[in-house]
Amino acid sequence: LTVLGIESSCDDTAAAVVRLDAGQAPQILSSVVSGQTDLHAPFGGVVPELAARAHAERVDLCVEEALTQAGTDLNGIDAIAVTAGPGLIGGVLAGVMCAKGLAAATGLPLVGVNHLAGHALTPRLTDGLGFPYLMLLVSGGHCQFLIVRGEEDFTRIGGSIDDAPGEAFDKVAKLLGLPQPGGPSVEREAEQGDRRRFALPRPLLDRPGCDMSFSGLKTAVLRERDKILAEKGGLTRADRADLCAGFQAAVTDVLAEKTRRAIGDYLDLRPHAPSLAVAGGVAANTTIRARLETVAADLGLGFVAPPLSLCTDNAAMIAWAGIERFRHGARDGQDLVARPRWPLDSTAPALIGSGK
Ligand code: ATP
Ligand code: FE
Repeated sequence: LTVLGIESSCDDTAAAVVRLDAGQAPQILSSVVSGQTDLHAPFGGVVPELAARAHAERVDLCVEEALTQAGTDLNGIDAIAVTAGPGLIGGVLAGVMCAKGLAAATGLPLVGVNHLAGHALTPRLTDGLGFPYLMLLVSGGHCQFLIVRGEEDFTRIGGSIDDAPGEAFDKVAKLLGLPQPGGPSVEREAEQGDRRRFALPRPLLDRPGCDMSFSGLKTAVLRERDKILAEKGGLTRADRADLCAGFQAAVTDVLAEKTRRAIGDYLDLRPHAPSLAVAGGVAANTTIRARLETVAADLGLGFVAPPLSLCTDNAAMIAWAGIERFRHGARDGQDLVARPRWPLDSTAPALIGSGK
């Protein structure tokens, strides 16, 4: 089974070919990602209208490139998987239109994929992880603990009640004048910094459960920055590094402690929990990964974190989620709709109006 995946929900246009042969590990035959960082840089954040136009311009080229790199053409493809949401609607539409066009022209089956399911199922693509597992999905727009029991069976047991950590990394980078995306730039600065210089809050740590909050933390960084600006009129390299290190340490502490609690809740449900898996762009952060691995090991759980390039947005995860749905009979038609919001767990509360 060879599936072409297409992704365009945020600011990366991506296409990939993934193949699954019976009894073998899946193979990523190609994974092409065309980022738009430079396009949005002057605006300090992703501009939806520009993103949509860029996706529409690039998606065909990405598909062609993915097929070429995989050494095949559409004749070698069995199905087309495409992100149908959640995300910036103009971008999602560009991908869905492309996929529908290819499906109509070739007669190939079409499978719509939830972008978050793509992230959440990645540990099965990279490590062959079996169901069920506990997942911390931590990205630019989302932050949630999920029990993953099947390719369409996700239960949310907690998460951020306001900003996602990736969004907080991006905002902190912006207010310190560091380049976007903020995660990698803040992580780089933090390496040189003293994480103890600023006393930043660990929101909700004193509350039970595994819900989290990150917006107050971002505001605290803003306040410390303004204090320095008022005193000295500018930030030194060290000020910036120390703020980044303090911020990253606070995010890491909150994620680690709440993961500890989520594992506790999960073990209550299923005493022989095999693994904690992480996914999403923030899971690319080395400090955060290492801490979560320690938490999992302390509690006797295995730990799975996909390679960095499969943590951030890519189409291999979409092709894989497509394979998972397709082999259980899922097919979508030309009436597949693009959705700006699409909670993974349809019973999840408070998803309306939160994140993206
Ligand atoms: P979502 O998947 O929720 O729709 P998205 O697709 O924009 O959001 P991803 O591509 O999964 O998110 O992740 C991008 C986010 O990850 C950005 O906010 C970015 O700053 C953050 N990120 C990337 N690398 C790192 C890193 N090394 N440390 C911290 N954050 C990071
Ligand atoms: Fe994503």
